[in-house]
Order: sequence, then structure tokens, then C-alpha cells
Amino acid sequence: MPALELRGLTKRYDDGTVALRDFDLVIPDGAFFGLLGPNGAGKTTLISAVCNLIRITAGEVRVFGEPGDSLLARSWVGLAEQDINLDRFLTVRETLVYHGGYFGMTKREAEERAAEMIRVFDLEAKADVRAPRLSGGQKRRLQLARALMHRPRLVILDEPTAGVDFELRLELWRYIRKLHENGTTILLTTHYLEEAEELCDEIALIRGGRLLARDTADGLRERYDADSLAEVYVKAM
Ligand code: ATP
Repeated sequence: MPALELRGLTKRYDDGTVALRDFDLVIPDGAFFGLLGPNGAGKTTLISAVCNLIRITAGEVRVFGEPGDSLLARSWVGLAEQDINLDRFLTVRETLVYHGGYFGMTKREAEERAAEMIRVFDLEAKADVRAPRLSGGQKRRLQLARALMHRPRLVILDEPTAGVDFELRLELWRYIRKLHENGTTILLTTHYLEEAEELCDEIALIRGGRLLARDTADGLRERYDADSLAEVYVKAM
């Protein structure tokens, strides 16, 4: 059973912009899959469609075989959005427990899972500190931990390292890799070929709402010369 299946996915926004056109994609269970494309390619639209944040114009989304808008499918997906959007009045622990409650966990379950996430993401020293007092790296780690609270089978990371410096990028990569090693399927969007190459076993190139190619990083480098690849990614380092 694939983790994610998109069939004929099309999104036309109210102003007529077609952000995704007849998009087909199948991501196997356990994959570390990258979506690589320039600004405006349709990456965030695709994620929003999978996470039921927008209404799709046509097509179908299935998550582990279930319709994407079903309760089961929703409970299987975790999203770490591109922008940091933490509640400034909640501590690290409260942020996690609150999110667990949102996904129907009992208080006790949520507290236990939050303690585990705090350990995994090395946030013990900051557990009772409110979000605005965290460093940039700690905020990103908390955002990741929050996305994992309800034990999603498919984790979507929307440009998890956009705008972060080299050191922090390496640090975040370590956490993300660990997550995948534990069996979680990952869909990551990025502008950076190096990031996709470093982490993903397969990459889809997307531009203008269409799938240009799907291959391993090596395969893409063989198929495209550096100039054509440079049109769809941004050099990161
Ligand atoms: P970035 O890398 O800059 O985040 P992206 O690949 O995520 O880009 P999207 O944000 O999905 O791309 O945008 C795809 C297209 O849809 C763009 O042309 C964008 O301007 C347009 N678009 C996105 N959201 C809306 C909206 N709410 N209304 C109208 N057009 C939109």
C-alpha cells in the first residue's frame, strides 16, 4: 500500500491561477521522498491539498489507501509547515500536550508522548520555556516534535531548512534522518538540490504545477545538464 497516491490532482485558485495540473504521484511506504522546485512551482499547494488545508479542483488524494479527507487519513499525516507558527503563550511542553489533545489523545497519553518528544529533540532544558524564548534551532525542533506528537505514518516537511544557516541545517538533517530510520515515510519539499540529494532516496522535480521528472539524485544529474537543473533549484551551500 503506497503512503501517498495523487491522481489527476488539479488546483485552480479563485483568481484563475492553476497551481497544479493533472498531477500524478505515488510515494511508497517507508520512502524518503523529495519534492524539488523553484518558487511558485506548486509545492505548498500540493502539501495543502494532501493536508486538507485547501479544496482541490479535481483529482484524488489517498493516504495509505484511504481517501485523503477521511479522519483516518488525517490522523496518519503530520505536517511541519514552512513558517514557524508556535503559540507564543505556551511552553514547549504545553505546545506538545495541546497538539496531542487536538488529535484526540488523552491528557496522560499526550503528556507521556510530549516527554518522549522533548527527549528525542533534546529540549529537556527548555521544556517549561515559552516559544518566544527559544533559539531558532529549538523552535524548528519544537515544530518538528509537534508534527510527530500523534505518531503520523507520513510526515510532511515543507522546506524545513529554508533560511537557516549551515550548522543548523546539518543539525536538523540529523533529526530528520533519525525519524526516517524509525520507519516513518517522509515527504520533504525543498529548493535545494543538495538537501534533496543528501536526504531523499527519490526526488520529483516540479515546475509550473507539473511533474517534470522523478528519479534518484544521481539519475537526475545524469539526465539533466547542470544548467537545466539550475533552473529548478537554488544552490544551498
Ligand atoms: P515556494 O517555493 O515559493 O513556497 P511553491 O512551490 O510552494 O513556492 P505554491 O505556493 O504552491 O508554490 O504556489 C503555486 C502557484 O499558485 C503560484 O503561482 C502562486 O502564486 C499561486 N498561489 C498560491 N496560493 C495562492 C492563492 N491563495 N491564491 C492564488 N494563487 C495562489
